[in-house]
Amino acid sequence: MPSEFEIIRRYFDRPVRSATLGVGDDAALVSPRAGMEVAVSTDLLVEGRHFRAGADPRKLGHKALAVNLSDMAAMGATPRWATLALSLPDADATWIAAFAEGLFALADRFGTELIGGDTVRGPRSACICILGEVPRGQALRRDGACAGDDVWASGDLGGAALALARPDIAEAGQRLDQPEPRIALGERLLGRASAAIDVSDGFAQDLGHILERSGCGAHVQYERLPKFAAFARIGEPELERACVLAGGDDYELVFTAPPRERPALEALARELSVPLARVGEIRAGKSSLTVVDAHGREMTVPRGFDHFSR
Ligand code: ADP
Ligand code: MG
Repeated sequence: MPSEFEIIRRYFDRPVRSATLGVGDDAALVSPRAGMEVAVSTDLLVEGRHFRAGADPRKLGHKALAVNLSDMAAMGATPRWATLALSLPDADATWIAAFAEGLFALADRFGTELIGGDTVRGPRSACICILGEVPRGQALRRDGACAGDDVWASGDLGGAALALARPDIAEAGQRLDQPEPRIALGERLLGRASAAIDVSDGFAQDLGHILERSGCGAHVQYERLPKFAAFARIGEPELERACVLAGGDDYELVFTAPPRERPALEALARELSVPLARVGEIRAGKSSLTVVDAHGREMTVPRGFDHFSR
């Protein structure tokens, strides 16, 4: 079995392109470009909580980075650098090689460099810290939504949660294991969206964070929410509602924008081939979300994911 330092050298030490100093020293060195500020975010994936024991290491490498890239997308930031803290029960070279392969395949697609980390023996987990750049003062924050803004959602919702309920639906499993971070969309929403978040804990809960931070409410039409395609075929409306409104792990962007942006956003959706659905509007008043059905009747909104409340 390889030693800690062989693991690092063999699987994680790659020449850096834009960092001043990468893997191998006590700290890495990076400089943002002129006029940019640094966006920093961390996400931790733990075995038994975020992934099953025995999960495919290649997919796990992808997902560990994808969830972090998604946070950059939600800020409108361009991902640049990442560190990886890896805890492993053993130094299984095949496992580590596959994990690194999944991680670097995605990192290379988005020009993100691995510049450091930590490797320890312990329960299996992967924690990535990502750094991105965003033009100073322009990041898409959660607190910018205003009454009258439209609420938009990218792609489709509920697929990842469907995979947990119905492991037999292969395309849902793909959605859960291989989320596609909406980096290009996030970057292009700068100057157009007033607030944004990525859907990690469920549409209703994540939109709720925008409402709370922005001090406003929202009115959403369930019919307009973009739903993972398989729901149309399986015909289980209750499961669909639970997955679409409260399912986590979709990593789509939910954002708000003033109505004058509609033509530009519709054009952007075509240009990027990313569906954008206008699902409701922001309203003045208390930070509450109302979701109505096709007949305008208020629906009960199931709760989203919370690590400590169930
Ligand atoms: P230190 O003792 O200063 O924490 P380490 O011996 O843990 O340093 O790590 C040596 C170098 O390898 C450091 O530059 C660290 O950032 C990097 N490193 C360790 N583990 C990883 C990893 N999983 N991925 C990328 N870089 C890593
Ligand atoms: Mg260390």
